[in-house]
Parts: sequence; C-alpha cells; structure tokens
Amino acid sequence: MGQLNTFPLSYKIEGKRIVIVGGGEEALNKARLAIKTTASVVIISEDIEADFSALPVSVIARPFVASDLDGTALVFVAGHGADGVAAKAAARARGIPLNVVDVPEECDFYTPSIVERAPLTVAISTEGDAPVLARLVRARIEALLPPGLGKVARLAGSLRAKVEKLIQDGPAKRRFYEDLVTSPAIEAAANAGDGAQAAEALLEAHARNGAGAGMVWLIGAGPGSEDLLTLRAQRLLQEADVIVHDQLVPDGVVEMGRRDAERICVGKAKGHHSFSQAQINTLLVRLAGEGKKVARLKSGDPMIFGRAGEEIAALRKAGIGYAIVPGVSAALAAAADTATPVTLRKVSSGFVMATAHGADDGELQHWAALAASGLTLALYMGKSIAAEVAGRLIAHGAGASLPVGIVVNAGRADKALYAGTLGGLADGTVDFAPGPAIIFVGEAVAAGDWGEAADLAQASFKVA
Ligand code: SAH
Repeated sequence: MGQLNTFPLSYKIEGKRIVIVGGGEEALNKARLAIKTTASVVIISEDIEADFSALPVSVIARPFVASDLDGTALVFVAGHGADGVAAKAAARARGIPLNVVDVPEECDFYTPSIVERAPLTVAISTEGDAPVLARLVRARIEALLPPGLGKVARLAGSLRAKVEKLIQDGPAKRRFYEDLVTSPAIEAAANAGDGAQAAEALLEAHARNGAGAGMVWLIGAGPGSEDLLTLRAQRLLQEADVIVHDQLVPDGVVEMGRRDAERICVGKAKGHHSFSQAQINTLLVRLAGEGKKVARLKSGDPMIFGRAGEEIAALRKAGIGYAIVPGVSAALAAAADTATPVTLRKVSSGFVMATAHGADDGELQHWAALAASGLTLALYMGKSIAAEVAGRLIAHGAGASLPVGIVVNAGRADKALYAGTLGGLADGTVDFAPGPAIIFVGEAVAAGDWGEAADLAQASFKVA
C-alpha cells in the first residue's frame, strides 16, 4: 500500500457557513456541492455572472470583507481578483480550511468525487492525479447503490436504540442490519414512505426467530458478457453469501460476486459431471434454510429454459423466500448481435422461443406452420441436431427457402455467425464454432445484418 498525502475525513459543518468567493461557473460548481450539506452557503462577489437563483444559497454582491468569515467552516476561492487574494489571507489568518479552485498548491483540502445517498456518502479521490479515473469509479459505485439506500440508512439509525433492546447477541444484530440494508422490500417501503413500519416488522421478526431468514434469488446472468448483466443482478451478487451457478455462466460474471462468497458450480454442461435437478433443488433449500442469501445464477433469463419452474416449486414447498431477476436471453442477444428485428411490420408478427431438443413431431409441425405463417423462431439447444431439425421442419411443411441465421456465443466477443436457408441447413454439414447457439428461422431473419456470416451450404439469403 502506498501512502496518502491527504487525510480522508467527514467534517462537521452543521450550523456553520460555507463561504464561496467568486461569482462564475466555478463558484456555481462548488455551490452545487456545498448545498448537499446543511451548512448555510454564502456566495460573495462583486461580479455575479452565473445563475445561482435555483440554489438555496445567499448571494452577496459586494467585495469580500474579513468579517464574512465569522462562523465559517470552509472557504472556497473561485476567482483570482482582489477578492480572492483578500479571502485567502483572511482564511489563513483565521485557520479556516481553504480550497482555491484549480490551484492545488494553495489548497488545504480537496473535494473528492462523491456518490451521495445521504447519510451514506462514498468519496473517491485520486489526490488530483487522475480525475478521469475518479469519475469512472464514481459511475460504477453510483450504479451499485440503489437510489433509496440513504433512506434505508436513516432507518437503521433511527432503530438503533430499539435494536439494542430487542437483540443482545452481536452476530444476530449484525444479521439484522445486513438484512435491513439489503432487503429490496425495505428499500421499496422506504421509497414509498412506509419504511419505518416495514423496518420495525423486520426487527420484530428477527427478535422472534433469531437468525434472519434465508432467501434465494434466481438471477439471469445474460448471455455471458459482464456488461450485459442488469444492475440489480450485480447488486444482489454482491449481497449473496453463496453463488450457485451453471456451467454456461462465464467466470467473469461469477467473479462479480462478493469476494468471500461461497461459489458452487452445479454443472449442466454437456459431458460434465453435474448435479441432478433434484440435487440442485435440495441444495438451494438447504442453503437458504441455513439462513444464507443464495444467488442462483443462470445463463440468459432464468425463466427461459432454465428449469426455474422446478426450483421455484421446491422453494415454495419449503416455505423459502425467493425473487426472480430477469436477464438478457440468448435469443435477444443474438438478435442484437445481428441487428435482426425478430418482429417486423408486414413480415413477422411474432417471435417464438422454442427448444429444438426433445421437440416431438407435433411441436415441429406446429412451428413449421408458425414459421410459414411469418413468425420468427428462435431455437435453443439445437446446435448438435441443427440439420436434423431443419429437415424435419421442411418435412412438416416449412419452406426450404426460409432464411436461417445461427449465432454461436451470442452476446460475447467470440461470437460466430452462420446464414443461409432452411434447405441449406438441412443438406449441409456445418462445422460450427464451439459454444452454445441460437438458430433463427423466418423471413425477418433476412432483414438482419449477417454480413460477416459464414454460408450454410450454398444457398444463402444474403443479397449483397
Ligand atoms: N436461460 C437461457 C437458456 C438456457 S438453455 C437463456 O435465456 O438464454 C441453454 C441454451 O441457451 C443453449 O443450448 C443455447 O441454445 C442457448 N444459449 C445460452 N447462451 C447462449 C449464447 N451466449 N449464445 C447462443 N446461445 C446461447
């Protein structure tokens, strides 16, 4: 670890003044920061150029005088005229911390980038070395913290005495506060103005039952790029004690969880030893039963070919709380990768997500009719039997000239595209890249951008 040249601290300003000397844009920027506090903010300058009218500040349009610093906690100098010189001297004479905008050598303190969910504040500083980095870090933290978190923090503060009375055990107290500050239900109640009631109910439940209740979140991880994860998924991954994930969820996503969270891979990759669905159900019930917060991470969206139905049934039966977090399903990522509008006016009036695997003849016949009628099919789990499925769709009446587009590793950097017709796919033997694939069938596919796609056999819908 290196050493800091500044000392991070939270400085009390309640009941005091923050004086900003200057009347331009820089003064306005500092004013915007200062009004986040309860200090009274005073702007002093002969030339008030910026528009301060929207801010709760006092504007004094005259030269600075030393007595302006009575009762002042902090001074910002944002202007280099005689006022600035006088204000700097006066602040130094009185020992009031001084910030001279854009002149680091003259500053007693800097203002870090902040993420503010009052009373929660996260300050990010690079001691002026890399403001761009500070901004990027700030954006990430901003995304991680739900907007209502400040209200939840206030709730925690207001319940402190009651918690002390009702829960004596230290770890039990900590579990209560963890539960309080991470519960989406409490946050929602706080935003709706019912936070106090919800928080007290939670406290009473903890006091009665001991350990906080476990919980399972079924979370969609998206198609495999970290930045296609939802903000909610990312947040809950940070909260989970255990992450139970499928083989298809890439390491990068699994690693977004808390560093000390337990990680369990339940397999489900072809040819791998994997847990049976019944074992997974039992595992989830057991972990949540121990009071743990479990993130059940599934590729794409959990409700689409994710066996979510069975897991939900098991959790319901065991009386364990659960919530579902949607994700970007593979077919949608494939549509995005290839700019394919899966519904398209006058061409495709709908979109069917279907499994190619284990589809029986009746289903195939149904889809062939749908595809011929203009719906776009997205077939999951069909790569290894692609030619066979294409042949059977044709046998059931789908046109051999229907456009087909296949995306292997949709939504990822290593995606691979294939385009052609249903007939071409049925006849050809394509050497697909390794990885999971989505097979699109339907007229709308031809409207996509399949420019870099390899041909499926000779027949291609690509028109240059
Ligand atoms: N719940 C997932 C689907 C799981 S079933 C979702 O909503 O996407 C597994 C099948 O999903 C694979 O056989 C493949 O057809 C598809 N799939 C998953 N990830 C994929 C990806 N990145 N690219 C293409 N297809 C993918």
